[in-house]
Amino acid sequence: MDVFDQIIAGDLPAEVILRTERTIAFLDVRPLFPGHTLVCPVEHFETLYELPEDHYTEILMTVRTVGLAQRGALGAQGTFIANNNIVSQSVPHFHIHVVPRSKGDGLRGFFWPRTKPSPNQLHAVAELLRAELTGANT
Ligand SMILES: [Zn+2]
Repeated sequence: MDVFDQIIAGDLPAEVILRTERTIAFLDVRPLFPGHTLVCPVEHFETLYELPEDHYTEILMTVRTVGLAQRGALGAQGTFIANNNIVSQSVPHFHIHVVPRSKGDGLRGFFWPRTKPSPNQLHAVAELLRAELTGANT
């Protein structure tokens, strides 16, 4: 089992902000910016090329929901949505990065520089996003 399977199984802690029938969204522990979220299928598929077509809609809807929550909760102006297959893919379980962006935010390359927030800092951002999502669902 890779680390994402362990998170999905509840064996590893993560700041989960949304879970649907077939997808899960949780904070990246090495975010580019606060709120940087990973969206992946609950079932294990290594890359987009193994992901069954009937998963596409739900994955992209979760990406959309997370991106809108970043805008609502964190004031993000835009979103960087990205996926690496094999090369630069740190965990062999398909995942889409959803990164809040703002003009002048200092992003210098697609994935650099990364930061290392404390668990408390991650938790605070996750709480903002979860509150936004709860509000959106009522
Ligand atoms: Zn996996």
